[in-house]
Amino acid sequence: MLKHGSTIGILGGGQLARMLSIAASRIGYRTHIYDPSPDAPAFEVAAFTTIGSFQDRNRLRKFATEVDVITYEFENIPNSALKEIGRDVQIFPDKNALLISQDRIKEKKFFKSLDLKTVEYAPVKSLADFSSVINSIGIPSILKTCRYGYDGKGQLLITNSTPSSEVEEHLLKGPCILERFTNFQKELSVIIARNEAGNVVSFDPGENLHKSGILHTTIVPSQISNRLQIDSILIAGRIVNALNYVGVLGVELFLSKYNELIVNEIAPRVHNSGHWTQNGCAIDQFEQHIRAIVGGKLGDGKRHSNVTMINLLGNQINNSIDIVDGALHLYGKNDVIEGRKMGHINYVSPKT
Ligand code: ADP
Ligand code: MG
Repeated sequence: MLKHGSTIGILGGGQLARMLSIAASRIGYRTHIYDPSPDAPAFEVAAFTTIGSFQDRNRLRKFATEVDVITYEFENIPNSALKEIGRDVQIFPDKNALLISQDRIKEKKFFKSLDLKTVEYAPVKSLADFSSVINSIGIPSILKTCRYGYDGKGQLLITNSTPSSEVEEHLLKGPCILERFTNFQKELSVIIARNEAGNVVSFDPGENLHKSGILHTTIVPSQISNRLQIDSILIAGRIVNALNYVGVLGVELFLSKYNELIVNEIAPRVHNSGHWTQNGCAIDQFEQHIRAIVGGKLGDGKRHSNVTMINLLGNQINNSIDIVDGALHLYGKNDVIEGRKMGHINYVSPKT
């Protein structure tokens, strides 16, 4: 286990890194944040900071020599950057999990290899590909870029009135995946952790509501049967075990009309739908991730309260300090941009 006072390097300096950094300092670790932007939200709560691009080999190398372990807060870290730093220091979660989650097709194949249910899908690189699979995938469907998508970005809803020019234009963004649209009952997520010793601890599944592809609300306990709660945790458990995973992982699921659990995607990091743990559990997802990557024992994942987490986007943070019946978490972002995640509130009530 890394000793007290060791330094954890974090690639990316957004709100997730900020909250990881706060959790790390609470349990005696320092963080060193690496981000290209001088006003990255995590910088103001970290012991050390580096402003540098993910292409800057020298800077990445220097960063790697100054930290005791490395983690990241987003998936789209260039492979070249990982190679550069991976020579000097361990990276958790490891490259395997990252490479799978970076590419939606790799990700779906991985789920299938574990016999997990996914939506019907087909790879699409050209209009010809699209034409040959649209009938079998069906309408409505969603054309998603395989890489770099987040918060619903890089997605085009395909309906009967979508002109082929729009499809063509979308394909210019890069190779895509066409997914059948699922009329799900609910969206769920499981935040799960695994450490090097192979211990696995899950938080209770959350029920998520998205608006325009962006998470809006997470509710725990999710309003699903106990059987489905356990099944969704077991799915997440199979994923972390198959990956020999170290750290916290977010698993997004659809619950179909027929009560089937369909795996949507994974995120090899702390996850927005796990923010409720900050006020619902003694040890939250951020501390849990730090514990896993420093080689420590995992928290028990127990939930002591019911929580409704609401994201604050753009100018929704104005006057948020006036909200006095929920725990406010602001990210310290200076530029208020419409749709940008600026903070969240956890409304807490006694556990049911
Ligand atoms: P990302 O979170 O990386 O932007 P997702 O695949 O999770 O991408 O898509 C964002 C949201 O869009 C999902 O949470 C869900 O609400 C909706 N969505 C995505 N894929 C489908 C699908 N195949 N059927 C129905 N809704 C979908
Ligand atoms: Mg998602």
